Amino acid sequence: MIKTKAYAAQNEKTPLAPWDFERREVGPHDVQFDILYCGVCHSDLSQVTNEWFPGLFPMVPGHEIVGRVVKVGEHVKNFKVGDLAGTGCVVDSCQVCENCKQNMEQYCLEVRTFTYNNLGRDGMPTYGGYSNTIVVREEFVLHISDKLDLAAVAPLLCAGITTYSPLRLWKVGKGHKLAVLGLGGLGHMAVKFGIAFGAEVTVLSTSPKKEEDAKKLGAHHFLVTTDPEQLAAARGAFDFILDTVSAEHDINMYLSLLRTHGVHICVGLPPKPAEISVFSLTGGSKILTGSGMGGIKETQEMLDYCAENNIVSEIELIDIRDIQKAYDRMHKGDVRYRFVIDMASL
Ligand code: NAP
Ligand code: ZN
Repeated sequence: MIKTKAYAAQNEKTPLAPWDFERREVGPHDVQFDILYCGVCHSDLSQVTNEWFPGLFPMVPGHEIVGRVVKVGEHVKNFKVGDLAGTGCVVDSCQVCENCKQNMEQYCLEVRTFTYNNLGRDGMPTYGGYSNTIVVREEFVLHISDKLDLAAVAPLLCAGITTYSPLRLWKVGKGHKLAVLGLGGLGHMAVKFGIAFGAEVTVLSTSPKKEEDAKKLGAHHFLVTTDPEQLAAARGAFDFILDTVSAEHDINMYLSLLRTHGVHICVGLPPKPAEISVFSLTGGSKILTGSGMGGIKETQEMLDYCAENNIVSEIELIDIRDIQKAYDRMHKGDVRYRFVIDMASL
């Protein structure tokens, strides 16, 4: 077994603290890499606090993981010691179901395993990236370019792919008006991709003080959602809304900002069910949909696209001892625009 240092929550009420555990030995198809950086996703906060469902404790969060390969199994073909490597939200799937065959491992119908707060096929809990090393099956390890700042690449493994994937699926681009709802970790990546794909991008935010940043990220317009006048002026304005909001909000109101046949894509995961009036959909043939992460092939495509187009996350690099402070700020919507843990601080 591999001795591993980590930060873990012992239950949903205690702050994260140092915790040692053992990872499995590197199997014939496994890659072990030492973790250099790990992004902090709002999903980490939602899971360590049991906001969504009762979690598995002790819990080591983290699914935006990048590092350097230190060991490979005898059958590993695509990685060697010294390579940069990354892992996102999913570390195993059946590989044979309808969804896996179509490169949508995140929707595997049989044995999808999340990077943490989940049980693997072996019945053992999975532990995430707030740790010094990780062992992952080769098929779920991504290649990372050395062209970009590695710390700023980490958030691409979740915030990046979760916004890239639905924008690609819906072919958002030139001639489209895209609204990004919520300017946090996912939201700021959605702005970058929307701009890169040629859309006219508006940020819809509860935080007027983020306007300058939104413009720096390339957004064409900024709308404060707490201002009824600005909202009224935007009725019927958008082809797509990418909804990244982590807390309860009135989706009916946002549906009214869509054009006829407009599409509202939920990626944010508020803990409580949303109340939707069917009238909000029938009045204009609106489409309400959702999207989860992305498949491995598409994640690699997104990472390569980012390397070619010089796209990374805007980050605040933190010491792992400050993780609780980062959670507090995230809880208040004060993220600029992704916290990334420097694992050298562990
Ligand atoms: P984040 O960095 O905390 O950003 C969320 C943003 O939502 C905030 O910055 C804020 O933006 C806005 N917001 C927060 N509370 C709000 C409220 N009460 N009303 C309106 N807006 C509010 O979070 P994140 O890491 O980007 O994650 C966003 C959500 O996506 C989370 O629920 C997370 O769990 C989920 N997620 C889903 C997937 C998936 O596969 N679907 C993957 C990763 C994460 P403004 O200040 O601009 O209003
Ligand atoms: Zn995430």
